[in-house]
Amino acid sequence: MIPRTVFSTEHEQFRDSVRKFLETEAAPYHHQWEKDGQVDRELWRKAGAMGFLCPQVPEAYGGLELDFGYNAIVDEEISRQGLTGIGWGLHSDIAVPYIVNYGTEEQKQKYLPGCISGDIVTAIAMTEPGAGSDLQGVRTTAVKDGDHYVLNGSKTFITNGQHADLVVVVAKTDPAAGAAGVSLLLVESDSPGFKKGTNLEKVGMKAQDTSELFFDDVKVPAENLLGGEGQGFIYLMQELPQERLSVAVNAIANCEAAIGWTIEYVKDRKAFGKPISAFQNTQFKLAELDSELTALRVFIDRCLELHYEEKLDVSTAAKAKLLATDFQCKLLDECMQLHGGFGYMWEYPIARAWADARVQRIYAGTNEIMKLIISRELLKRE
Ligand SMILES: Cc1cc2nc3c(=O)[nH]c(=O)nc-3n(C[C@H](O)[C@H](O)[C@H](O)COP(=O)(O)OP(=O)(O)OC[C@H]3O[C@@H](n4cnc5c(N)ncnc54)[C@H](O)[C@@H]3O)c2cc1C
Repeated sequence: MIPRTVFSTEHEQFRDSVRKFLETEAAPYHHQWEKDGQVDRELWRKAGAMGFLCPQVPEAYGGLELDFGYNAIVDEEISRQGLTGIGWGLHSDIAVPYIVNYGTEEQKQKYLPGCISGDIVTAIAMTEPGAGSDLQGVRTTAVKDGDHYVLNGSKTFITNGQHADLVVVVAKTDPAAGAAGVSLLLVESDSPGFKKGTNLEKVGMKAQDTSELFFDDVKVPAENLLGGEGQGFIYLMQELPQERLSVAVNAIANCEAAIGWTIEYVKDRKAFGKPISAFQNTQFKLAELDSELTALRVFIDRCLELHYEEKLDVSTAAKAKLLATDFQCKLLDECMQLHGGFGYMWEYPIARAWADARVQRIYAGTNEIMKLIISRELLKRE
């Protein structure tokens, strides 16, 4: 074992309370939430009361003003227990940082305390039925009309879509200007003309309320523009490294848990009169997986350190997301194989993790887009 050095004693105490909270408040109910298609909304408020939401937010807005390590711990503990319905990572690591980093003082005062307490659940709506990887192709428009914007369009695959009270919406304020015409708007979900569509039925992450959203002449006050008009694309590029690191952190924690479940299983399960763990194939598979996992853990922890120092560049974050999620899918597939038929049964955590993990290579920018980002940077080098 290579000891981890990214977390302090305070981080580990925080981990302890997150873990205990999830064991009692979430794990026993997650199976039911998978059937419901969403987690219990009260869970958000309970987590808020414990200080688990948005740990980075400055004290001036009621936050704890902690480093990203605290977000990473929440992500890791959720992932270890396979509680993929809980969309706190999207809220704390992805959506809320847009308000912290680009919001006006009024926006911060108005929204951040609720984001911390769990009274406000956030989402970020980039993807549309006709535009995912190619974000410049979004067709949602926000047309300025006096003191407000008129928002029209639709979004899909939006994490926290049913629970969301506040959505960071990517829209074109100047459709002729390409990337320079993209802006971000803070849209309250009870605005007239804002409709939440279907809670989408997915292959995995069944307790996550991933949804369609529709905007039909929604009047968004001009003061809800996030940052500058036409700056949205730049903000997205600046924030995506943290989103991709968060996905990678998640992936590696999940791999560590899955290899643990598998070791336990192969020691217990017998075939041909001996435990599955006695077969050389099992031993070699586990050895190979754990070797790769060890290397990736060190790499992702180094990325975390760089991120604490605000030095994690776009290309390295893309490498982290690409490697961690490709490996997660490979590991879960191999671990499921070692479980035999029981591994394919939904009641086994390995089955759910296998199904839940597949999307990790698709969202937060597909792994093909990660390769584009990495190669672009490589080819720019002298
Ligand atoms: C469970 C889930 C949760 C999600 N949560 C959110 C969310 O909260 N907010 C949000 O905005 N979006 C969210 N998404 C959407 C997600 O980010 C997109 O699905 C993703 O970016 C891919 O876009 P797409 O589905 O349009 O695929 P497409 O862009 O149509 O891609 C299809 C295929 O073509 C490949 N491809 C595309 N362009 C290139 C290229 N230039 N070179 C090589 N290959 C290419 C892709 O890699 C992919 O394999 C979520 C998706 C899912 C499934």
